[in-house]
Amino acid sequence: MNKLTETDIRKNGKKVVVVGAGPGGLTAAMLLCAKGFDVTVYEKENQVGGRNAPLSLGRNNEYVFDTGPTFLMMTPILREMFDATGRRLEDYCKVVPLDPMYRLSFPDGKVMDITPDQNRMEAQISRNFPGNEGALKQFMKREGVRFEKMYPCLQKDYSSWTSMVSKPLLKALPHLALGKTLFENLGGYFKDEYLKMCFTFQAKYLGMSPWECPAAFTIIPFIEHHYGIDHVEGGLSEISEAMKRVVCELGGRIELGKGVRKVITGGRRAKGIVLNDGTEVMADAVVLNADFGHAMTTLFDPGVIRKYNVDRLEKKKFSCSTFMLYLAVDKLYDEPHHHVVFADNYRANIEDIARHKRLSQDMSIYVRNASVTDPKLAPKGHSALYVLVPVANQFSGIDWSEALVKQYRDAVITRIEQKTSMKDLSKHITAEIIISPKDWESRAVYRGATFNLGHTVDQMLYLRPRNRFEEVKHCYLVGGGTHPGSGLPTIYESARISAGLVCQDLGI
Ligand SMILES: Cc1cc2nc3c(=O)[nH]c(=O)nc-3n(C[C@H](O)[C@H](O)[C@H](O)COP(=O)(O)OP(=O)(O)OC[C@H]3O[C@@H](n4cnc5c(N)ncnc54)[C@H](O)[C@@H]3O)c2cc1C
Repeated sequence: MNKLTETDIRKNGKKVVVVGAGPGGLTAAMLLCAKGFDVTVYEKENQVGGRNAPLSLGRNNEYVFDTGPTFLMMTPILREMFDATGRRLEDYCKVVPLDPMYRLSFPDGKVMDITPDQNRMEAQISRNFPGNEGALKQFMKREGVRFEKMYPCLQKDYSSWTSMVSKPLLKALPHLALGKTLFENLGGYFKDEYLKMCFTFQAKYLGMSPWECPAAFTIIPFIEHHYGIDHVEGGLSEISEAMKRVVCELGGRIELGKGVRKVITGGRRAKGIVLNDGTEVMADAVVLNADFGHAMTTLFDPGVIRKYNVDRLEKKKFSCSTFMLYLAVDKLYDEPHHHVVFADNYRANIEDIARHKRLSQDMSIYVRNASVTDPKLAPKGHSALYVLVPVANQFSGIDWSEALVKQYRDAVITRIEQKTSMKDLSKHITAEIIISPKDWESRAVYRGATFNLGHTVDQMLYLRPRNRFEEVKHCYLVGGGTHPGSGLPTIYESARISAGLVCQDLGI
């Protein structure tokens, strides 16, 4: 493969400004640089990555955590983004496949180590859930067909309603299982409730309830079992660092610590941006990677945004939030890399989060003990533990006061001690960072909805905020708030779609 360098690229004379250096913004910047655009990314923080940035603890920052994403799925899509710039992902990041991918612990003490190896998976199903033999094979076969039909639809642009009658979408239509939920769909394969949970809890990746998430998203567990789940040495934040390097190698600029105050518009067209220090930067196109709700409510002059003005935005469905603990621990536990512990009453827990919007004391917990695989994240014999608890977003009105944060933190640690092999965890925590829904909100995540707008049928494809932003010309959206949706592979796809539209609209 020929590695493109700045001198190989014929500059096209067009200027693009990208607001935000999250995974969406960085991918778009890489792709646009490779097409000869003059690209500058403005990021309000002092590091790249957004929710995919690293966090650290310890005197020498020797405990390293990913802020958000920890499951890398569909790595071939990420590889394609690097390929498009004449590069190999593997020259920038060390990708490590995980097997088992993760452990699931059920209320009755049953444990499943989920593996992409179908024979081992079958053997576990047969041992733990007799009577379900052969169902996995059927699941992989049928869901494989759905995936083949659906995935090309996710890679398309839905700027106009006519795109809704495109060939790929019409072909996929019978496979969308419209009107069915994820949990209902799984009933077609598996009899046992716990087994259904193994293939539906992934709705949480979208911040949704498996009992409400459209059945079409059964492609997510399929993707896991088909492609596997990867880790990146040093943490998934290394991907963003790698993208930053590529942008700079291709002659793009990344301006850190430079927040954007507003998008300059004229005649409902984006003309540039104003930085927080008042500097105006004019551009031929503006790519928005800032959280969608945050951008709509803060980055435009009053009256510019109509369809997504604050009143209408508030009526949209948003994902759940997360209560996060990042723990520096002076011990390395013999615990899996990823471990999901279900609430005793999982359905009630999900309903508390999604419907009643109240705090569950019977919570589900995800613990990532990546130090067991990756020695780069903590000193030898120590670990950097990441804990994620799905909770209601800030539409709940829950007051995340200091007292509540402390009480919930203690409850989560107690739960981990009860439900995992980390029986003495509280004695080994030497430092910690906590992020509550209120903290997400103060980090420019609208209503603390960490996985952005919900992925309900009425907020997908043409009905999701569009990549070619429908309210302002020459403005393009990338990231979890636009099509195809939240999650790293789809965010990379959003950048590929939007970069394509920029080229199309500017005649490149
Ligand atoms: C806790 C958590 C766990 C997750 N786990 C996974 C996972 O395991 N796998 C997966 O695939 N996905 C996961 N996700 C979802 C998703 O992949 C990430 O949230 C991803 O980082 C979102 O990328 P983005 O490009 O949409 O935006 P962001 O990462 O939010 O980046 C937006 C950037 O814009 C910047 N910005 C905002 N406003 C301005 C402004 N005015 N001026 C300049 N800059 C601005 C922000 O500082 C930020 O850097 C997870 C998310 C969270 C929060």
